[in-house]
Amino acid sequence: MQKDKIGCEPQACRVCARGNIVTPMNRTGRHFLQIPGPTNIPDRVLRAIGQPIIDHRGAEFAKLAKEVLEGLSSIFQTNSSVVMYPSSGTGAWEAALVNTLSPGDRVLLFETGYFSLLWGQLAQKMGFQVESVPGNWRAGASAGELESRLSADKSQVLKAVLVVHNETSTGVTSEIAELRRAMNRCGHRALLMVDAISSLGSMEYRHDEWEVDVTIAASQKGLMIPPGLSFNAISQKALLANKMAKMPRCYWDWQGMLKSCETGFYPYTPATNLIYGLREALQMIREEGLENVFRRHERHARAVRATVWEWGLEIVCSVPQEYSSTVTAVFTPKGHDADRLRATILEHFDLSLGSGLGKLANKVFRIGHLGHFNDLMLTGTLTGIEMGMRLASVPHKEGGVMAALYRLAPAGKNLAAPS
Ligand SMILES: *Cc1c(COP(=O)(O)O)cnc(C)c1O
Repeated sequence: MQKDKIGCEPQACRVCARGNIVTPMNRTGRHFLQIPGPTNIPDRVLRAIGQPIIDHRGAEFAKLAKEVLEGLSSIFQTNSSVVMYPSSGTGAWEAALVNTLSPGDRVLLFETGYFSLLWGQLAQKMGFQVESVPGNWRAGASAGELESRLSADKSQVLKAVLVVHNETSTGVTSEIAELRRAMNRCGHRALLMVDAISSLGSMEYRHDEWEVDVTIAASQKGLMIPPGLSFNAISQKALLANKMAKMPRCYWDWQGMLKSCETGFYPYTPATNLIYGLREALQMIREEGLENVFRRHERHARAVRATVWEWGLEIVCSVPQEYSSTVTAVFTPKGHDADRLRATILEHFDLSLGSGLGKLANKVFRIGHLGHFNDLMLTGTLTGIEMGMRLASVPHKEGGVMAALYRLAPAGKNLAAPS
């Protein structure tokens, strides 16, 4: 279809089946980007990113880099090292592997969803032997299964256990502390590597306390900055493994990056303006308080689930203790294409939702409720979905959105009022 100068399809408003006037591709007001990453970027962060670039080999940059690495350590809850790459999260997956392993090493991967599957494929392409623990994509990694697999590995052939903390494709969280306890119970030496890309800065995460060896993170989810920065938090044990690891590495080499942590000067050009954004985002998280950020995400996730249940739809995560606080994946009723629903919602209400990934394609839509987000963005999102379901004739109980409103504003609980 031909587009006009501002990219809209020059098509008159039309009247839908219910007699409402609908504008094709309503582009007035703000777009609602409620995919589970990249997430909405606060204006403060956008302004920070818009500052003039500086010399990355000058003293000002060194100060900036040190400041953000310190701030990040408090988000990872670690006293150990954090390194930062100008890359998407996939790069940090690769970095974790090439810095700690040798060619042909065997790793254990929990297939909890699409992202774990991708991480496993990456490991396989790099020549590692990937032992996959299959899953139904509706529950997290099982500590019992981990314990039995590691106990069976008497000669300790497995060098690493790969787990995605928050499966963004399914809205399922794995209990990392429990997995670590299972590893410790069998006294296995494998490294624990955790992808916290869509949980870090939004959900409780403790790199040191949970004895994670490498945590992988990225900028575009809970950290509220554009895609393009990724991170590894590295335990002492992982640093030791690094000394023995024989995988060839250059761009991802921790050693060059670790030196930069001391000097503030990077082995190659850093993503300076994204780092400005990161500094601002970390400041915002400090102002709100990390614990408050976690509580906000939990509260919003509960409100979303209340509405989904009220609609009579099914949530992908089947284990209540494993509900994600950042993303909720929802099955559309049988015979109703989730992508068609998403397209209707985008067309009529300018709201983007996450698609079903891999084997969940067309079957689910995903609501991102993380990062720079508030009550009205949440209720707006749910309202958009409910209106979309009406337009697309997706069966649901009408008014389900009220369940979220009641949860967010319980009657008579005006906490802000002076006592
Ligand atoms: C978004 C995401 C990724 C993908 O990272 P890229 O930045 O696209 O390379 C990996 N893992 C999880 C859990 C994610 O949410």
